[in-house]
Amino acid sequence: MFIGHYAVGLASKKLAPRASLGALIAAPILLDLLWPIFLLVGWEHVAIEPNSNPLLRLDFVSYPISHGLVAVVGWATLFASLYFGFARYLTGAIMIWIGVVSHWLLDYLVHRPDLPLYAGSSRLVGLGLWNHRWVTIVIEVVMFAFAIWLYLRQTKAKDRIGSYVFWAFVGFLLLAYAGAAFGPPPPSVKAIAIGALFGWLLVPWAWWFDQHRKARIIDPQSPSTNTTLAGG
Ligand SMILES: [Zn+2]
Repeated sequence: MFIGHYAVGLASKKLAPRASLGALIAAPILLDLLWPIFLLVGWEHVAIEPNSNPLLRLDFVSYPISHGLVAVVGWATLFASLYFGFARYLTGAIMIWIGVVSHWLLDYLVHRPDLPLYAGSSRLVGLGLWNHRWVTIVIEVVMFAFAIWLYLRQTKAKDRIGSYVFWAFVGFLLLAYAGAAFGPPPPSVKAIAIGALFGWLLVPWAWWFDQHRKARIIDPQSPSTNTTLAGG
């Protein structure tokens, strides 16, 4: 899953309005930010296989540290704890924990049975929705559109950055998704890893435009700080 993970981050702004979208986006994409690092250092492995369906061209040979369910719960707890330590915002920390775990659940929906439960386990799971390319695309686009609607209902731009940089973010993700769903196969595993590392840039990108937006609805917990809500 790709833009569906970003949808979770955008939508969680509604439930944790005082958290920065940078943190709320980082949570559901965290596993795919760690994965290229583990690929490059050789702890996890992926192979490219020819397939007429571009969604099925990656063979996830082994990735228990980034995508094993037990490790994922650990990453979620670590990230949520760090966030709470810095931000002291419990609702934000809970949304971050849910966001990280949601990645595994959404991947479970789309991946073929290649997701491990824990390192060393021979049992691999996945419902394989990727076998039905158009069903997957429709589900992800609907999730993404719904999340954009929620985010726009929750926040409004304070200036041009808050509007243009947000829409550039949306456009970039749609283009990247179209490339993954319809484009040519990746040239090499290294190219996959380097490409995935660029995902890290999406976190400050989201933080940036979110700083230039403010809450439309007054947060009942802190009515006097309404104008600073978007910054979180
Ligand atoms: Zn993933």
